[in-house]
Formats: sequence, structure tokens, C-alpha cells
Amino acid sequence: MHHGDDLMSNTVNSRISGFHKMTPAERLATVQRAVGLDGASVEQLGKPGSLDLHTADHMIENVISSISIPIGIATNVKVDGRDVLVPMATEESSVVAAVCNSARQCYDSGGFITSMSGTLMIAQIQLVGVSDPKAARIRILEQRDKIEEVCNGCDPMLVRLGGGFRDLEVRVIEAEGGPMVITHIIVDTRDAMGANTVNTMAERLAPSIAEWTGGKVYLRILSNLADRRLARARATWTLDAIGGEAVRDGMISAYRFAAADPYRAATHNKGIMNGVSAIVLATGNDTRAVEAGAHSFAARSGRYTSLSTYEVDADGSLVGTLEMPMPVGLVGGATKVHPSAQAALKIMGVATASELARIIAAVGLAQNFGALKALATVGIQQGHMALHAHNVAMVVGAVGDEVQRLAKILVEKRQVRQDVAAEELARLRGEG
Ligand code: NAD
Repeated sequence: MHHGDDLMSNTVNSRISGFHKMTPAERLATVQRAVGLDGASVEQLGKPGSLDLHTADHMIENVISSISIPIGIATNVKVDGRDVLVPMATEESSVVAAVCNSARQCYDSGGFITSMSGTLMIAQIQLVGVSDPKAARIRILEQRDKIEEVCNGCDPMLVRLGGGFRDLEVRVIEAEGGPMVITHIIVDTRDAMGANTVNTMAERLAPSIAEWTGGKVYLRILSNLADRRLARARATWTLDAIGGEAVRDGMISAYRFAAADPYRAATHNKGIMNGVSAIVLATGNDTRAVEAGAHSFAARSGRYTSLSTYEVDADGSLVGTLEMPMPVGLVGGATKVHPSAQAALKIMGVATASELARIIAAVGLAQNFGALKALATVGIQQGHMALHAHNVAMVVGAVGDEVQRLAKILVEKRQVRQDVAAEELARLRGEG
């Protein structure tokens, strides 16, 4: 195979000594030198955007810049009788519009009814090397009071806020190489997502667990399968609102497809996450934690399936539900640190992490409804392409009102492609 000169001259050395000690501007300049970055790119990355570099520099390591993702507002959303404007951070077109449309279609029938199973997080402590795992399990369970004391001692602040240790579970699992004794501590983390909180407790407990059992403790960390922190949403769409029985039945069939087939369920759930992750991101929460929870919960029966359900109620209306782990917080992590996250919370006017989680579940369901409806009727591309056409128009250099005009032409021609866009832009400009 021939390696061109371009590739060779692009060889970069990723070993840069003292990178973490530099200021963001110095790091950016270093990267510029290292990869030969062009001036315009450096200027773009050097702009603070809505996150100032000082803040960014304290959030993660080796900061050079920040990336801006559009925040769109979902309208028409009513959750438990209260209207809410929902900020969604996403790079994908059609996501915000789908929520607005879906929410409008169930607004008059009550919007979204939501609930929450609790705000409990689970941390795991892995114990190996015990010859009597069943007895070890009982020995750990005997120490419940002591375990509660140690956990709550880690976080008096959380206890004052009504949270803290709630329950203890010990499981013996069969793993390659022999049995492991897995302790679960179950902690109410209130308005925090709680990863750091429960990790601290698990680490503090570990030496005692080794001592009580004579085994060796390895891992001490939360489980992202947060199945004691489930957010639920439900909504009813009347036949009038959705456009008749044929649409409804197509949507039910689409749901049943996802319920029966993991290949379809993955895409079905990805659509739900389009809504969910956008709010999780906009509020500075951990998108990966919520995603890991969603997909592991979807596979809890041993077979991966749909997170949502659709049925026909006694009146012939379509009823949709969504139930999934929603470990999000109002404090902790980046939520308090990122100024845009704080602004996003202000827009929604939420006072507790559960309220936020419930809004997210409602929007996840709305997003899912929108995708199913589009798929069961006109297909997803029509709506998608209209917005995608704007992107393509900008890629080929359209500016100002050219963007709108060019996008319209591409959609009408049903050819949303860069080559066509370039030709049409030239023609448009030729017309003057
Ligand atoms: P944190 O430790 O920063 O904040 C939680 C603490 O805030 C609580 O322990 C409590 O002392 C205090 N607090 C103040 N007001 C509170 C209130 N109203 N309710 C509850 N607590 C209150 O953050 P965290 O939520 O424990 O951890 C979240 C962070 O952990 C995220 O950034 C996440 O990315 C990260 N993380 C995730 C994983 C994972 O998902 N596997 C693992 C490690 C870390």
C-alpha cells in the first residue's frame, strides 16, 4: 500500500511534556504547532463560546477549547399539568422539532404523566478468594448496622438533606475462576446523580468487608444499571390528534417490531435517547451514565428490547409509556459548574433531580412517538432531509438567504446531495 506524503508529514507526537501545566491558550498553540493547524481553526477554537476557558480548564484535564452544540427549546411540553420549556443540546437536526410536534399532539389529552421509583443508587464491592462464599454473604449481611453507620458517616451533608444509606444486598455470582461475593449498598442520593457519593462509601467499606470475610476486595464502584432510580412517563394520543386508525395501527406495529427484535430495538431506543441525552447534556449531566443505564435496563430480561410500550386504550386512543433509569442530578459533577447548565435548569424551573428526571422521561417518550409516527407514515427522511438540506447548503458555501432558498430547491428535487447543491448554488448565483 502506498502511503502518501500528506500522511507522513502529518505524523504527530502525542507525547508533550508539561501539557497539563500550560494555559489553554498555550495548549492550543502547542497543538497548532504539533499538527500544523490552520489559523482559522485556531481562531475558532480560541473563542470562548458560552463556556469561559477558565471554567473549562477546571472541569477536565489538558483543556485547549470547548465545542459548541446548539441548544434548542422544545415547546408544547406539559408534564404533570405544568407547562415547561425544555432546553435540548444536540447536533442532530429534527430532534427538537419531533418533540414539539409529538407533545402538541397529546397536549389536549393531558400531556405527559410522570413518576419516579426513587432516587436510589447502587454501589458494588467485589470480593474474591473466599472458600465459603455463602457464609461470607451472610457474614456481610450481619453487619448491616455497621455498614449503615460507615456509609452515612461518609456524607453527613447528604444525611441532613434526607438521603443516605437505605439498603444492603449481597449476591454470590458465578464467574470464570470461581464465585465472587458482590455487596450492593443502596443509597438515596437525593438531588445528586451520586456516583462520587456512593463510590466514596464503597471505598470506605471495602477494608471491613475484607476483614469480616477473609477475602480480597477489588472493585468498589457504582453500577450504572440504576434500576432503583426509574423515571416513568405516560401519554395518550387520540385518534383525531394522530390522524386516524391506520396511523395508530402502523405505530403499534412499529412498537411490536422493536419489542420483538433487538436490531430494531437498538434503533427504537436510540430515538428515545435523542431526546433523553439532549437534556442530560444541556443540564451538564453525565450522558454516558444515562445511556449505560438505558441499554442495560433494556436488556434486563436477558434479551435486549424496547424501553417504551404502545397500546390501544378503551377509547381507541394510543397510549405510550416509557420506563428507564434516570440518574441525573442538580448538584455534583458539571451541573453546578457549567454556566449554561445552570441556565438550562432555570429555563425548566426544576427544584429537584426527580423533577428533572421526569421531564427527561416525558421528552424521551415524545421523541419516540415522533419517530414511530414518521416511520409508520411518510418515512423518516422527508422531515430529516428538510433540515439536513440546510446543512448541505451551508457546506457548499451558501450564505444569508441563499441557505433557505438552496435548501428548498434540494428538497423539491429530492436530491439533498453536495454535488447537486454546488451546481444549484452556482445556478442560483448566476440568476443573480
Ligand atoms: P458530587 O460528589 O460532586 O456531589 C454530590 C454531593 O453533593 C453529595 O454527596 C452531597 O454531599 C452534596 N449535596 C449538596 N446538596 C445536595 C442535594 N440537594 N442532594 C444530594 N447531595 C447534595 O457528585 P455526584 O453526584 O456524587 O457524582 C456525579 C459525578 O460523578 C458526575 O460528574 C459523573 O460523571 C461522575 N462519575 C460517574 C461514574 C459513572 O457513572 N460510572 C463514575 C465516577 C464518577
